Amino acid sequence: MKKILITGALGQIGSELTQRLRNIYGINNVIATDIKSDTHSWLAQSGPYETLDVQNAQAMFDIAKTYHVDTIIHLAALLSATAEAKPLLAWNLNMGGLVNALEVARELQCQFFTPSSIGAFGPTTPKDNTPQITIQRPITMYGINKVSGELLCDYYFNKFGVDTRGARFPGLISYVTPPGGGTTDYAVDIYYEAIRQAHYTSYIAQGTYMDMMYMPDALRAIMELMEADPSKLIHRNAFNITAMSVQPEDFRVEIRKHIPNFKMDYNVDPVRQAIANSWPNSMDSTAATEEWGFSAEYDLFKMTSDMLEKLSEKLSHKVS
Ligand code: NAD
Repeated sequence: MKKILITGALGQIGSELTQRLRNIYGINNVIATDIKSDTHSWLAQSGPYETLDVQNAQAMFDIAKTYHVDTIIHLAALLSATAEAKPLLAWNLNMGGLVNALEVARELQCQFFTPSSIGAFGPTTPKDNTPQITIQRPITMYGINKVSGELLCDYYFNKFGVDTRGARFPGLISYVTPPGGGTTDYAVDIYYEAIRQAHYTSYIAQGTYMDMMYMPDALRAIMELMEADPSKLIHRNAFNITAMSVQPEDFRVEIRKHIPNFKMDYNVDPVRQAIANSWPNSMDSTAATEEWGFSAEYDLFKMTSDMLEKLSEKLSHKVS
């Protein structure tokens, strides 16, 4: 990775990844793009920034060529809950944007990364310790996009030799940029509300386990996978990676260690609950560990301490 183009760079992942990559590879070697013409944001002002709709193939090609890009990190997408509300838009954006980005990678011989998700699994997938290779029959538009995307990236590698790489991210928890409409967003909201009002109403039911990961581990995973020795990558495009398997009650218990009067109740959203029910309880990330050394540093305990500290600084509240 020498000259990196990021799509969807103003989102939950991109906003932090852009900054991290600029620190490592140099400010002018990371070109942030997003559909938002948000030129006043700190990210747009801290290095090269271009407004780009990933559905515009020619514009993406022109930007990549102008900046002599050799790596594309494609993040622009509609996430699970939003995609269920707007399935046709999700299909057009998630699949159209991906094929456009892959085409640019093919034509300019770029290395390529795009995330898949726990959403690539469905109700017939084994729920516990979900294997790397298993049944994938998702019932959401987002999941259908993610499985198709995994296959499309495999195709571009096998057919055209594009150096495609990818990981199935679990729900990501972070404090810099709010999440953009996923099913696991509750696991971020709960920290904000714990600090703001010591109370949270969860839209996901008690006992619903899903995989999660703290953002620093996700960013490191992207960089380590991109730098990994290609001869060792057997699965390449869709590595299961996880840091913890958690349910809402686990967050409540952990947060109460810091905010003893924190209370949580439930008002389950049937749409997001149905999506959550169709996803794994916990994934097996052995292949990622064996093939490129993936390991997560943050468990629920360590993540909660850090989240509450950083978020309370951000929100200017004091946590005991
Ligand atoms: P996000 O919703 O926070 O950000 C997406 C960004 O894409 C936004 O800044 C948005 O403005 C931009 N965008 C939307 N339409 C666009 C278009 N037509 N052209 C260009 N940009 C456009 O998403 P995120 O959480 O940063 O996720 C990035 C990727 O990671 C997605 O592929 C997502 O499916 C995947 N992922 C995320 C999570 C998670 O928990 N955040 C988990 C698994 C997988």
